[in-house]
Amino acid sequence: MATSEQEVTIDVKLFVDKEKKKVLFAESDKEFVDVLFSFLTIPLGTIVRLLDKQSQMGCLDEVYKSVEDLSSDYFQTKACKAMLLKPLNTASSHCHRLKINIDDTKPREVYVCKDTSCYAHCAFSSVPDTLCKCGKVMEYAGDRPEDDAKTAAAGSENGVFVKGNQKFITTDDLQVAPASTSLMLSLGREFGVQDPADLEQTILQLTSEKQPLTGLHFDVPITTDDASFCTIPLNLCPEQESDSEDNKGNVKIKVLQTKISSAVLYAEVGHDFVDLIFGLLSVPLGCTIKTLGQSLSKGCIGNLYRSIAGGAEGCMGPDYQRLLLAPELPPFFGSAASQILQAPESAPKNIKIDSCFSCFKIGGFSNLGRCREQDYRYNSSYRCWRDEFTNCQNTTKTAEICELDPKLHGVQSSNRDAYVKQGSQSFMVTDDLHVRPLTLDSSLRVVSEGEVQMKDLVEKEVAVTKFQIMELQRAALMTREALSSVLLPPKKKKKNLKHLMY
Ligand SMILES: [Zn+2]
Ligand SMILES: [Zn+2]
Repeated sequence: MATSEQEVTIDVKLFVDKEKKKVLFAESDKEFVDVLFSFLTIPLGTIVRLLDKQSQMGCLDEVYKSVEDLSSDYFQTKACKAMLLKPLNTASSHCHRLKINIDDTKPREVYVCKDTSCYAHCAFSSVPDTLCKCGKVMEYAGDRPEDDAKTAAAGSENGVFVKGNQKFITTDDLQVAPASTSLMLSLGREFGVQDPADLEQTILQLTSEKQPLTGLHFDVPITTDDASFCTIPLNLCPEQESDSEDNKGNVKIKVLQTKISSAVLYAEVGHDFVDLIFGLLSVPLGCTIKTLGQSLSKGCIGNLYRSIAGGAEGCMGPDYQRLLLAPELPPFFGSAASQILQAPESAPKNIKIDSCFSCFKIGGFSNLGRCREQDYRYNSSYRCWRDEFTNCQNTTKTAEICELDPKLHGVQSSNRDAYVKQGSQSFMVTDDLHVRPLTLDSSLRVVSEGEVQMKDLVEKEVAVTKFQIMELQRAALMTREALSSVLLPPKKKKKNLKHLMY
């Protein structure tokens, strides 16, 4: 984002059907298209945060609130909580060049152990509250400078993802393509425009406050409460035999439901199941469409995703196409959830600094010079006047620091894919995927809120397969009743929804 005081705006020309008062499509320069495509690189947790936990994306608002409310004690480290609430964007060095960058996460912050006598090797973290191997909490040392080579590549000709100087047409449901006569004619036919005079043209000035993610003139990215995708019901049969090879990856949960209607009150789960839900927050939006595809991508965001290899193909280089179609997770942000989604992690970074590590600990990026500061003074051992280093006697005046896993707890070995601490603690997950520690009190409250009698309840143990976990993740993005839509056979009442879709 530009740093000037003056507010940056992007002009978008809207073509509105005068009679229906509906935006049919928009014409813009590549800057607007770049902003739209950048949505695919944004992690789900960031989208929820930017929309103030009112994203309406399935259960994700509840998942996010659960992480916020859960004490750090339940996570492997305090940093794990920060990784889920403020996940980093792997494409941030590109998004940084967007005219309007809506992702306000600070990707270049560098944290180090500031203890100059620390025995641990040269390490840094991009996540606050990361623990050094010596056990101390890493502290902020400044922002890593922007990679000059990448910034220079952004000539006037090239946008961020999209190149060229042509105009682009974006439909109301986010299909993007370069403007052309044939496109204009086909859009005219599609929208039944007889006379161009029926269209009103208005200029919309987008700012970082007023951008399309807030639904301004465009739909909210993912359709909500559409559970009709759910085709693989898991019958709640008692005590499945789970010794066979195929069932090794299954996650055992206990479901509390009513005897008569089988309504799910909540599931009692362990840390492994919670990780499968929480981990979704650090996954980029584009990854979920890539893997969960089909039904998920019926909404606007699916159209946007398809435009990259469809209508807008040829408007960007293959590297950028890959970056948008299969965005990676930042180093160490992977989890059981991202593994199910087959979303890879990018490699950890090393940073070269122009001072020794001790001086960096003291001065950070803003005072790298202290390492080489010299003074003309008398040296008693050489018995002469000469230039002497004033602050630092280290002979090596550069250092390379490598990225440390924020999930690590000191020298203890821990499960590097897990955000949640391993242990016997049980959690309660409600149908809308709100997660809280299981206590007698919370359990009784849910039962009383469900207005059911204790005698009408039954507890069933279920082994959830990897495939069902994937269905659950899909449900988490699309419906408020994620657990029951995956755990129960499809209800008849869903028929009317299906009818709407076909
Ligand atoms: Zn240390
Ligand atoms: Zn030094």
